[in-house]
Amino acid sequence: MDDARLAPVLDRIDADLPEALDRLMTLLRIPSISTDPAHAADCAAAAEWLAADLASLGLDAASRPTPGHPMVVGHTGAESGPHILFYGHYDVQPVDPLDQWKTAPFEPEIQETEHGKVIRGRGASDDKGQLMTFVEACRAWKAVHGTLPARISFFFEGEEESGSPSLIPFMRENAEELTADLAVICDTSMVSPGVPSIASQLRGMLKDEFTVTGPRIDLHSGHYGGPGLNPLREIARIVASFHDADGRVAVEGFYEGVHEVPDEIKRQWNNSGFDEKTYLESVGYTRPHGETGYSTLEQQWARPTLEVNGLWGGYMGPGTKTVIPSQAHCKITCRLVGDMDPDRLRDKIRAHVEARLSPDATVTWDGNLDGAPAAVMNTDRPEFDAARGALTDEWEREAVLVGMGGSIPIAGFFKDILGMDAMLIGFANDDDAIHSPNEKYDVKSFHKGIRSWARVLAALSR
Ligand SMILES: [Zn+2]
Repeated sequence: MDDARLAPVLDRIDADLPEALDRLMTLLRIPSISTDPAHAADCAAAAEWLAADLASLGLDAASRPTPGHPMVVGHTGAESGPHILFYGHYDVQPVDPLDQWKTAPFEPEIQETEHGKVIRGRGASDDKGQLMTFVEACRAWKAVHGTLPARISFFFEGEEESGSPSLIPFMRENAEELTADLAVICDTSMVSPGVPSIASQLRGMLKDEFTVTGPRIDLHSGHYGGPGLNPLREIARIVASFHDADGRVAVEGFYEGVHEVPDEIKRQWNNSGFDEKTYLESVGYTRPHGETGYSTLEQQWARPTLEVNGLWGGYMGPGTKTVIPSQAHCKITCRLVGDMDPDRLRDKIRAHVEARLSPDATVTWDGNLDGAPAAVMNTDRPEFDAARGALTDEWEREAVLVGMGGSIPIAGFFKDILGMDAMLIGFANDDDAIHSPNEKYDVKSFHKGIRSWARVLAALSR
C-alpha cells in the first residue's frame, strides 16, 4: 500500500488508543438495554452521547426520535469521494443471569487474559466496541488531515437487539438522506482469530408449521388399533421423506436458485483458518452430517437446509396411555441461500407433504409467513477487492470473503428499501460471549479494527 495520507493517520490511531478506549468505556457505562422499557432513558442517553461525539468530529449529527428508541444520524459536509453510509447499533442485550458475571456488566474494565488484553462489559463487542472502531478511524483521519477522505454518513440504531421495529419505517421516511453509494456495517465476527473477514453471503429463513389430523377424536388403541390411521406414524413417514440417504433435501424443486460456490471463493474458505475439528467436536460430532459431497463450511454457509425443529403429539405424560391420537404436529425451518424464493419454497414443501398424506388424513398449515431470502452481497463491486487489500495489509494475512450460517437482516433492508449494497466487516471473535455473561472485546480487535477502517477508507477513496 502506497498512500502517503495513511501513515500519519495510523500513527495518530496508535498514539490515541488510550483516549479511544476511555471514550468506549464511557459509552459502555450507559446501560442501553433496548428490550427493557425501564432502560428507555438510557437508550436515549447513549444516542445523545453518540450524536455529541459525532458532532465533536465536525459532523452534522443528531439523535432523531422514533416511536421506539432514537436513531442517530450524522453526515460529513461536502467532502469529495464516494458516499459511504456506516451502520452500527448502540443498544445491548439484557445482562441476566447477573450472578454469572464476574464483573459488573456496566462497569467496564480492561483485563489481562492469557490471550491478551480484553475490554470486559456488556456491549463491548456487540456492538458498541465495533461501531466505535469506525468512529475512531474517522476521528484520527479528521485530526490529521482536517477532513475525511470520503463523504460519510453515520446511522446508528437503538433497537437491533429487540427486533428493530422502527428501522424500516425510519429508512422509508428518510430514504433519500440515508442512501449512499455503499453501506458498511460493523457487527460481525472474524472467521477465526486474526483472519480479517468480509461477510458476503448470509442465509435467509423460512418458517412453517403443520398439523396432521387422523381420526376425529383420540381413539382406544384396542378398539381401533389395526384399522386406525395414526397421525404420528403419518407425520413420521412424511418427515422421513424430507431427506434422502445422502442428506439431500428430497422436496421437488427445493434446490431451485441454489448456486455452487465458485472456485475462488472455495479457495478463500479453505484459507480461512476455519477449525473444522473444533467446530464439530465442541458439540460431540465426529463428522459433518449434511449433504454428502460438500465441505462443512459449504454445508453451513452455502447450502440450504430443511430442519425439523419440533415434532409432537399423543400422550407424553408418565406411564402408558393406549391411545391413537387425533393429531400430530411438526415445526420446520429452512435456511435459504442464493436466489431461493421463500414463498415458492413454502408452496413446494406444502405440496410435498400433501402429496404423501394417506386417505382420511388431513393437514392444516399454521406457518409464520414472514420468510426472508438469503442476503448475497454484490462482491463484483470494486470496493470489495479494495477493502480486502486494505484488511490484508493491516492483518498481514489474506482477508477472506466468508459466509454466515445465520442472518443479519439490516444488509437485506439496505438493499430492499434503499437499493444500496452493503459490505459487512467486523473484528469480533467467536469467544466474545456476545449476548452472554462476561461479554468482552479484544483490545487487539479494537485497535486493529480502527486501523483497518482507516486503511479501508483510504482504499475506497483512492
Ligand atoms: Zn449486534
